[in-house]
Amino acid sequence: MSPNATDSSTILREERKMPNGCANGWSSMSDSAEEQCWKGQAFLKINEIVGMVKYYSLRAYIIFWHELSMNPRVRSSPFSPPPADELVLSADEIFSTRRRRLFFTSIHLLALAGLYFCVTGQVKLYTVLFALAVGIMSSIGVTAGSHRLWSHHAYKAKLPLRIILALFQTVGVQYSIYNWVRDHRLHHKYTDTDADPHNSNRGFFYSHVGWALMLPHPAFESKVSSVDMTDMESDWVVMWQYKLYAPLAAVLSYVLPTVVPWWLWGEDLLVAHLVAAQLRQVLTLHSTFLINSAAHMWGLKPYDKNINPTENMFVSVATCGDGWHNYHHTFPWDYKNAELLDYKLNLSTLFIDAFSLIGWAYDLKTVPAELVNKRALRTGDGTRKQPATDSATGHGDDLKTVPAACTNVYGWSDTDMPDEDRRMAQIYKKSD
Ligand SMILES: [Zn+2]
Ligand SMILES: [Zn+2]
Repeated sequence: MSPNATDSSTILREERKMPNGCANGWSSMSDSAEEQCWKGQAFLKINEIVGMVKYYSLRAYIIFWHELSMNPRVRSSPFSPPPADELVLSADEIFSTRRRRLFFTSIHLLALAGLYFCVTGQVKLYTVLFALAVGIMSSIGVTAGSHRLWSHHAYKAKLPLRIILALFQTVGVQYSIYNWVRDHRLHHKYTDTDADPHNSNRGFFYSHVGWALMLPHPAFESKVSSVDMTDMESDWVVMWQYKLYAPLAAVLSYVLPTVVPWWLWGEDLLVAHLVAAQLRQVLTLHSTFLINSAAHMWGLKPYDKNINPTENMFVSVATCGDGWHNYHHTFPWDYKNAELLDYKLNLSTLFIDAFSLIGWAYDLKTVPAELVNKRALRTGDGTRKQPATDSATGHGDDLKTVPAACTNVYGWSDTDMPDEDRRMAQIYKKSD
Protein backbone atom coordinates (compact mmCIF):
# COMPACT_ATOMS: atom_id res chain seq x y z
CA MET A 1 0.00 0.00 0.00
CA SER A 2 1.41 3.36 -0.97
CA PRO A 3 1.84 6.12 1.63
CA ASN A 4 -0.70 8.15 -0.31
CA ALA A 5 -3.30 5.41 -0.10
CA THR A 6 -2.77 5.17 3.67
CA ASP A 7 -3.18 8.92 4.01
CA SER A 8 -6.44 9.01 2.06
CA SER A 9 -8.01 6.15 4.07
CA THR A 10 -6.98 7.95 7.28
CA ILE A 11 -8.69 11.09 6.02
CA LEU A 12 -11.81 9.12 5.05
CA ARG A 13 -11.93 7.51 8.49
CA GLU A 14 -11.60 10.94 10.12
CA GLU A 15 -14.36 12.36 7.91
CA ARG A 16 -16.71 9.54 8.77
CA LYS A 17 -16.29 10.02 12.49
CA MET A 18 -19.56 11.03 14.11
CA PRO A 19 -19.84 14.06 16.40
CA ASN A 20 -19.75 11.84 19.46
CA GLY A 21 -16.45 10.33 18.29
CA CYS A 22 -17.96 7.10 16.90
CA ALA A 23 -16.78 5.76 13.59
CA ASN A 24 -19.32 5.36 10.87
CA GLY A 25 -19.24 2.35 8.57
CA TRP A 26 -16.07 0.29 8.62
CA SER A 27 -13.85 0.76 11.62
CA SER A 28 -11.50 -1.16 13.77
CA MET A 29 -13.63 -0.67 16.90
CA SER A 30 -14.77 -3.66 18.89
CA ASP A 31 -18.47 -4.66 18.89
CA SER A 32 -19.07 -3.44 22.44
CA ALA A 33 -17.36 -0.10 21.76
CA GLU A 34 -19.43 0.33 18.62
CA GLU A 35 -22.62 -0.45 20.56
CA GLN A 36 -21.65 2.20 23.10
CA CYS A 37 -21.16 4.68 20.28
CA TRP A 38 -24.56 4.00 18.70
CA LYS A 39 -26.20 4.38 22.10
CA GLY A 40 -24.43 7.71 22.42
CA GLN A 41 -25.69 8.69 18.99
CA ALA A 42 -29.25 7.73 19.85
CA PHE A 43 -28.97 9.72 23.07
CA LEU A 44 -27.78 12.76 21.11
CA LYS A 45 -30.63 12.38 18.61
CA ILE A 46 -33.21 12.15 21.41
CA ASN A 47 -31.69 15.23 23.04
CA GLU A 48 -31.89 17.03 19.73
CA ILE A 49 -35.60 16.11 19.31
CA VAL A 50 -36.38 17.12 22.91
CA GLY A 51 -34.62 20.44 22.26
CA MET A 52 -36.71 21.00 19.14
CA VAL A 53 -39.94 20.13 20.94
CA LYS A 54 -39.00 22.55 23.74
CA TYR A 55 -38.14 25.28 21.22
CA TYR A 56 -41.36 24.96 19.20
CA SER A 57 -43.51 24.54 22.33
CA LEU A 58 -42.07 27.76 23.67
CA ARG A 59 -42.71 29.49 20.35
CA ALA A 60 -46.30 28.11 20.24
CA TYR A 61 -46.82 29.31 23.81
CA ILE A 62 -45.55 32.77 22.91
CA ILE A 63 -47.79 32.93 19.84
CA PHE A 64 -50.72 31.72 21.92
CA TRP A 65 -49.97 34.38 24.49
CA HIS A 66 -49.84 37.12 21.90
CA GLU A 67 -52.81 35.96 19.88
CA LEU A 68 -55.03 34.82 22.66
CA SER A 69 -53.66 36.64 25.63
CA MET A 70 -56.13 37.82 28.19
CA ASN A 71 -54.18 41.01 27.95
CA PRO A 72 -55.74 43.17 25.26
CA ARG A 73 -52.58 45.10 24.41
CA VAL A 74 -51.33 44.48 20.92
CA ARG A 75 -47.64 43.77 20.52
CA SER A 76 -45.74 44.61 17.37
CA SER A 77 -44.80 40.98 16.73
CA PRO A 78 -45.45 37.64 18.41
CA PHE A 79 -41.87 37.62 19.71
CA SER A 80 -41.56 41.19 20.87
CA PRO A 81 -41.28 41.90 24.62
CA PRO A 82 -44.46 42.70 26.56
CA PRO A 83 -45.48 46.36 26.49
CA ALA A 84 -44.67 48.47 29.52
CA ASP A 85 -48.35 49.19 30.11
CA GLU A 86 -49.38 45.54 30.23
CA LEU A 87 -52.51 45.28 32.33
CA VAL A 88 -52.74 43.45 35.61
CA LEU A 89 -55.93 41.43 35.43
CA SER A 90 -58.25 40.89 38.36
CA ALA A 91 -59.08 37.39 39.56
CA ASP A 92 -62.66 37.83 38.25
CA GLU A 93 -61.42 38.79 34.78
CA ILE A 94 -59.09 35.82 34.64
CA PHE A 95 -61.87 33.50 35.84
CA SER A 96 -64.45 34.75 33.33
CA THR A 97 -61.98 34.54 30.44
CA ARG A 98 -60.92 31.03 31.40
CA ARG A 99 -64.57 29.97 31.69
CA ARG A 100 -65.26 31.27 28.17
CA ARG A 101 -62.22 29.47 26.79
CA LEU A 102 -63.26 26.26 28.50
CA PHE A 103 -66.75 26.58 26.99
CA PHE A 104 -65.33 27.18 23.50
CA THR A 105 -62.91 24.26 23.80
CA SER A 106 -65.69 21.95 25.02
CA ILE A 107 -68.15 22.79 22.25
CA HIS A 108 -65.46 22.29 19.63
CA LEU A 109 -64.47 18.88 21.01
CA LEU A 110 -68.12 17.82 21.10
CA ALA A 111 -68.62 19.13 17.55
CA LEU A 112 -65.63 17.07 16.41
CA ALA A 113 -67.26 14.00 17.91
CA GLY A 114 -70.44 14.88 15.97
CA LEU A 115 -68.39 15.23 12.79
CA TYR A 116 -66.93 11.77 13.42
CA PHE A 117 -70.43 10.25 13.50
CA CYS A 118 -71.26 12.06 10.24
CA VAL A 119 -68.18 10.99 8.28
CA THR A 120 -68.46 7.39 9.50
CA GLY A 121 -72.10 7.24 8.39
CA GLN A 122 -73.49 6.56 11.86
CA VAL A 123 -76.14 9.27 11.64
CA LYS A 124 -79.58 9.10 10.03
CA LEU A 125 -80.24 11.26 6.96
CA TYR A 126 -83.24 12.86 8.67
CA THR A 127 -80.99 14.01 11.52
CA VAL A 128 -78.58 15.68 9.09
CA LEU A 129 -81.46 17.43 7.28
CA PHE A 130 -82.96 18.46 10.61
CA ALA A 131 -79.60 19.89 11.75
CA LEU A 132 -79.35 21.82 8.47
CA ALA A 133 -82.86 23.24 8.91
CA VAL A 134 -82.14 24.30 12.51
CA GLY A 135 -78.84 25.85 11.35
CA ILE A 136 -80.61 27.89 8.65
CA MET A 137 -83.25 28.93 11.18
CA SER A 138 -80.63 30.20 13.62
CA SER A 139 -78.70 31.99 10.82
CA ILE A 140 -81.88 33.78 9.77
CA GLY A 141 -82.48 34.71 13.41
CA VAL A 142 -79.08 36.40 13.43
CA THR A 143 -79.06 37.99 9.97
CA ALA A 144 -82.72 39.03 9.65
CA GLY A 145 -83.15 39.52 13.41
CA SER A 146 -80.32 40.80 15.57
CA HIS A 147 -78.50 42.18 12.52
CA ARG A 148 -80.84 43.81 9.99
CA LEU A 149 -83.86 44.43 12.23
CA TRP A 150 -82.47 45.27 15.66
CA SER A 151 -78.93 46.58 14.96
CA HIS A 152 -79.68 48.58 11.83
CA HIS A 153 -83.45 49.21 11.77
CA ALA A 154 -83.32 48.30 8.07
CA TYR A 155 -86.98 47.33 8.37
CA LYS A 156 -89.64 47.06 11.05
CA ALA A 157 -91.35 43.93 12.34
CA LYS A 158 -94.64 43.34 14.10
CA LEU A 159 -94.73 41.55 17.44
CA PRO A 160 -95.25 37.95 16.18
CA LEU A 161 -92.31 38.26 13.78
CA ARG A 162 -90.13 39.82 16.49
CA ILE A 163 -90.88 36.87 18.76
CA ILE A 164 -90.08 34.36 15.99
CA LEU A 165 -86.80 36.14 15.22
CA ALA A 166 -85.86 36.35 18.91
CA LEU A 167 -86.41 32.58 19.31
CA PHE A 168 -84.45 31.83 16.11
CA GLN A 169 -81.62 34.12 17.26
CA THR A 170 -81.46 32.31 20.61
CA VAL A 171 -80.89 28.97 18.82
CA GLY A 172 -77.62 30.35 17.44
CA VAL A 173 -76.09 30.94 20.94
CA GLN A 174 -74.28 34.06 19.74
CA TYR A 175 -74.97 36.27 22.75
CA SER A 176 -78.35 37.81 23.52
CA ILE A 177 -79.88 40.24 21.02
CA TYR A 178 -79.10 43.13 23.39
CA ASN A 179 -75.37 42.34 23.61
CA TRP A 180 -75.19 41.41 19.93
CA VAL A 181 -76.68 44.76 18.88
CA ARG A 182 -74.45 46.78 21.21
CA ASP A 183 -71.28 45.11 19.89
CA HIS A 184 -72.44 45.34 16.29
CA ARG A 185 -73.22 49.04 16.46
CA LEU A 186 -69.71 49.60 17.81
CA HIS A 187 -68.34 47.44 14.99
CA HIS A 188 -69.97 49.76 12.43
CA LYS A 189 -69.17 52.98 14.24
CA TYR A 190 -65.48 52.21 14.81
CA THR A 191 -64.83 49.60 12.11
CA ASP A 192 -61.40 47.96 12.31
CA THR A 193 -60.08 50.16 15.09
CA ASP A 194 -59.34 49.14 18.68
CA ALA A 195 -62.89 50.12 19.66
CA ASP A 196 -64.25 47.54 17.19
CA PRO A 197 -64.82 44.33 19.21
CA HIS A 198 -63.37 42.20 16.39
CA ASN A 199 -60.90 44.56 14.76
CA SER A 200 -59.74 42.76 11.60
CA ASN A 201 -56.46 44.70 11.56
CA ARG A 202 -55.38 42.38 14.39
CA GLY A 203 -55.36 39.41 12.04
CA PHE A 204 -57.61 36.60 10.88
CA PHE A 205 -57.57 34.56 14.07
CA TYR A 206 -58.34 37.49 16.34
CA SER A 207 -61.20 38.83 14.21
CA HIS A 208 -62.62 35.35 13.69
CA VAL A 209 -62.69 33.90 17.19
CA GLY A 210 -59.81 35.30 19.28
CA TRP A 211 -61.82 38.37 20.27
CA ALA A 212 -64.41 36.16 21.95
CA LEU A 213 -61.74 34.41 24.01
CA MET A 214 -60.10 37.42 25.59
CA LEU A 215 -60.95 40.63 27.34
CA PRO A 216 -61.96 43.48 25.07
CA HIS A 217 -59.53 46.27 24.27
CA PRO A 218 -59.68 49.29 26.62
CA ALA A 219 -60.76 51.44 23.61
CA PHE A 220 -63.84 49.22 23.26
CA GLU A 221 -64.56 49.54 26.98
CA SER A 222 -64.33 53.32 26.76
CA LYS A 223 -66.82 53.51 23.87
CA VAL A 224 -69.30 50.83 24.80
CA SER A 225 -71.35 53.04 27.12
CA SER A 226 -71.76 55.61 24.33
CA VAL A 227 -73.88 53.26 22.21
CA ASP A 228 -77.50 54.35 22.14
CA MET A 229 -79.49 51.32 23.28
CA THR A 230 -82.71 53.07 24.29
CA ASP A 231 -84.57 51.48 21.37
CA MET A 232 -83.53 48.04 22.58
CA GLU A 233 -84.52 48.80 26.15
CA SER A 234 -88.00 49.81 25.00
CA ASP A 235 -88.55 46.58 23.05
CA TRP A 236 -89.88 44.05 25.58
CA VAL A 237 -89.06 41.10 23.25
CA VAL A 238 -85.38 42.05 23.36
CA MET A 239 -85.35 42.56 27.13
CA TRP A 240 -87.34 39.37 27.77
CA GLN A 241 -84.81 37.37 25.72
CA TYR A 242 -81.95 39.14 27.53
CA LYS A 243 -83.27 38.17 30.98
CA LEU A 244 -84.08 34.57 30.09
CA TYR A 245 -81.16 34.06 27.71
CA ALA A 246 -79.28 31.18 29.41
CA PRO A 247 -82.25 28.82 30.02
CA LEU A 248 -83.81 29.72 26.65
CA ALA A 249 -80.57 28.97 24.80
CA ALA A 250 -80.11 25.70 26.69
CA VAL A 251 -83.60 24.49 25.75
CA LEU A 252 -83.81 25.81 22.18
CA SER A 253 -80.26 25.13 21.05
CA TYR A 254 -79.33 21.96 22.95
CA VAL A 255 -82.31 20.15 24.50
CA LEU A 256 -84.87 20.37 21.68
CA PRO A 257 -82.45 19.53 18.81
CA THR A 258 -81.38 16.47 20.86
CA VAL A 259 -84.85 15.25 21.75
CA VAL A 260 -86.66 15.83 18.42
CA PRO A 261 -84.56 13.40 16.25
CA TRP A 262 -84.65 10.78 19.03
CA TRP A 263 -88.38 11.12 19.55
CA LEU A 264 -89.56 11.45 15.94
CA TRP A 265 -87.34 9.05 13.98
CA GLY A 266 -85.52 7.06 16.63
CA GLU A 267 -82.05 8.59 16.33
CA ASP A 268 -79.56 7.57 19.00
CA LEU A 269 -79.77 10.21 21.75
CA LEU A 270 -76.00 10.81 21.88
CA VAL A 271 -75.69 11.05 18.08
CA ALA A 272 -78.67 13.44 17.93
CA HIS A 273 -77.04 15.66 20.55
CA LEU A 274 -73.57 15.68 18.98
CA VAL A 275 -74.79 16.30 15.41
CA ALA A 276 -78.01 18.35 15.63
CA ALA A 277 -77.00 20.35 18.71
CA GLN A 278 -73.21 20.58 19.06
CA LEU A 279 -71.93 20.28 15.48
CA ARG A 280 -74.77 22.39 14.06
CA GLN A 281 -74.18 25.14 16.64
CA VAL A 282 -70.41 25.29 16.10
CA LEU A 283 -70.78 25.40 12.30
CA THR A 284 -73.33 28.24 12.39
CA LEU A 285 -71.16 30.08 14.91
CA HIS A 286 -68.16 29.91 12.59
CA SER A 287 -70.24 30.96 9.59
CA THR A 288 -71.16 34.15 11.45
CA PHE A 289 -67.55 34.60 12.57
CA LEU A 290 -66.49 34.47 8.92
CA ILE A 291 -68.25 37.80 8.37
CA ASN A 292 -65.88 39.43 10.85
CA SER A 293 -62.77 37.71 9.49
CA ALA A 294 -62.99 36.52 5.84
CA ALA A 295 -65.48 39.20 4.74
CA HIS A 296 -63.14 41.85 6.19
CA MET A 297 -60.14 40.50 4.28
CA TRP A 298 -60.84 38.69 1.03
CA GLY A 299 -62.99 39.94 -1.82
CA LEU A 300 -63.78 42.93 -4.00
CA LYS A 301 -64.68 46.43 -2.81
CA PRO A 302 -67.04 47.83 -5.45
CA TYR A 303 -68.65 50.42 -3.16
CA ASP A 304 -65.84 51.65 -0.92
CA LYS A 305 -62.23 50.70 -1.47
CA ASN A 306 -61.09 52.63 1.60
CA ILE A 307 -62.52 50.14 4.10
CA ASN A 308 -61.60 46.52 4.91
CA PRO A 309 -65.04 44.87 4.38
CA THR A 310 -65.41 43.01 1.09
CA GLU A 311 -67.99 41.24 -1.08
CA ASN A 312 -67.62 37.54 -0.28
CA MET A 313 -70.02 35.09 -1.95
CA PHE A 314 -68.87 32.09 0.11
CA VAL A 315 -69.60 33.90 3.36
CA SER A 316 -72.95 35.01 1.98
CA VAL A 317 -74.01 31.43 1.28
CA ALA A 318 -72.76 30.32 4.72
CA THR A 319 -74.67 33.06 6.54
CA CYS A 320 -77.91 33.17 4.53
CA GLY A 321 -76.99 36.50 2.94
CA ASP A 322 -74.63 38.54 5.10
CA GLY A 323 -71.44 38.21 3.06
CA TRP A 324 -72.01 41.24 0.81
CA HIS A 325 -70.08 43.17 3.38
CA ASN A 326 -68.53 46.02 1.39
CA TYR A 327 -72.04 47.05 0.37
CA HIS A 328 -73.33 46.51 3.90
CA HIS A 329 -70.72 48.75 5.55
CA THR A 330 -71.46 51.39 2.90
CA PHE A 331 -75.25 51.20 3.31
CA PRO A 332 -75.95 49.41 6.62
CA TRP A 333 -79.59 50.41 6.56
CA ASP A 334 -80.55 48.41 3.42
CA TYR A 335 -82.81 45.50 4.45
CA LYS A 336 -81.39 43.33 1.59
CA ASN A 337 -77.83 43.73 2.87
CA ALA A 338 -76.77 43.62 -0.78
CA GLU A 339 -77.23 45.68 -3.89
CA LEU A 340 -78.75 42.95 -6.02
CA LEU A 341 -81.74 40.87 -5.10
CA ASP A 342 -80.65 37.24 -5.36
CA TYR A 343 -82.67 35.01 -3.05
CA LYS A 344 -80.50 31.91 -3.47
CA LEU A 345 -77.51 33.82 -2.07
CA ASN A 346 -79.61 35.75 0.43
CA LEU A 347 -82.18 33.57 2.17
CA SER A 348 -82.71 36.20 4.88
CA THR A 349 -84.04 38.67 2.29
CA LEU A 350 -86.42 35.98 1.03
CA PHE A 351 -87.57 35.48 4.63
CA ILE A 352 -88.17 39.23 5.17
CA ASP A 353 -89.94 39.62 1.80
CA ALA A 354 -92.17 36.63 2.57
CA PHE A 355 -93.26 38.15 5.89
CA SER A 356 -93.76 41.53 4.22
CA LEU A 357 -96.50 39.88 2.12
CA ILE A 358 -98.61 39.34 5.24
CA GLY A 359 -97.62 42.71 6.71
CA TRP A 360 -95.48 41.40 9.59
CA ALA A 361 -92.37 43.02 8.04
CA TYR A 362 -92.77 46.60 6.84
CA ASP A 363 -90.87 49.84 6.18
CA LEU A 364 -88.29 47.91 4.17
CA LYS A 365 -85.53 50.43 3.44
CA THR A 366 -83.34 50.05 0.40
CA VAL A 367 -80.91 52.12 -1.66
CA PRO A 368 -81.92 53.37 -5.10
CA ALA A 369 -79.58 52.50 -7.99
CA GLU A 370 -78.78 56.18 -8.44
CA LEU A 371 -77.40 56.50 -4.91
CA VAL A 372 -75.45 53.24 -5.16
CA ASN A 373 -73.97 54.39 -8.43
CA LYS A 374 -72.93 57.75 -7.02
CA ARG A 375 -71.22 56.11 -4.08
CA ALA A 376 -69.52 53.44 -6.21
CA LEU A 377 -68.15 56.16 -8.50
CA ARG A 378 -66.89 58.16 -5.57
CA THR A 379 -65.25 55.47 -3.52
CA GLY A 380 -65.52 52.06 -5.23
CA ASP A 381 -62.61 50.05 -6.62
CA GLY A 382 -64.21 49.94 -10.09
CA THR A 383 -65.37 46.32 -9.89
CA ARG A 384 -69.10 46.99 -9.53
CA LYS A 385 -70.96 44.88 -12.07
CA GLN A 386 -73.37 47.66 -12.98
CA PRO A 387 -71.90 50.10 -15.56
CA ALA A 388 -70.02 52.86 -13.78
CA THR A 389 -72.01 55.50 -15.68
CA ASP A 390 -75.69 55.32 -14.94
CA SER A 391 -77.26 56.38 -18.25
CA ALA A 392 -80.75 56.12 -16.76
CA THR A 393 -80.03 58.85 -14.23
CA GLY A 394 -77.63 60.79 -16.41
CA HIS A 395 -74.76 60.67 -13.92
CA GLY A 396 -71.29 60.50 -15.31
CA ASP A 397 -67.63 60.96 -14.45
CA ASP A 398 -68.29 64.33 -12.85
CA LEU A 399 -69.43 62.45 -9.73
CA LYS A 400 -65.87 61.25 -9.15
CA THR A 401 -65.06 64.73 -7.95
CA VAL A 402 -67.56 64.55 -5.10
CA PRO A 403 -65.67 63.98 -1.84
CA ALA A 404 -66.16 60.62 -0.16
CA ALA A 405 -68.52 60.43 2.78
CA CYS A 406 -66.38 59.22 5.62
CA THR A 407 -68.78 59.04 8.54
CA ASN A 408 -69.32 55.54 9.87
CA VAL A 409 -72.96 54.90 10.64
CA TYR A 410 -74.55 51.93 12.36
CA GLY A 411 -77.89 52.13 10.66
CA TRP A 412 -81.11 54.01 10.11
CA SER A 413 -81.37 55.19 13.72
CA ASP A 414 -77.86 56.70 13.72
CA THR A 415 -78.08 60.49 13.72
CA ASP A 416 -74.78 60.62 11.80
CA MET A 417 -76.41 59.05 8.74
CA PRO A 418 -75.82 61.36 5.73
CA ASP A 419 -78.87 63.51 4.86
CA GLU A 420 -78.52 62.53 1.22
CA ASP A 421 -78.84 58.82 2.07
CA ARG A 422 -81.90 59.42 4.24
CA ARG A 423 -83.54 61.64 1.66
CA MET A 424 -82.96 59.28 -1.25
CA ALA A 425 -83.77 56.00 0.54
CA GLN A 426 -86.60 53.96 -0.91
CA ILE A 427 -89.02 52.49 1.59
CA TYR A 428 -91.22 49.55 0.56
CA LYS A 429 -94.36 48.37 2.38
CA LYS A 430 -94.52 51.69 4.14
CA SER A 431 -96.48 52.06 7.34
CA ASP A 432 -98.77 55.06 7.73
ZN1 LIG B 1 -68.18 44.17 9.33
ZN1 LIG C 1 -74.08 45.26 10.18
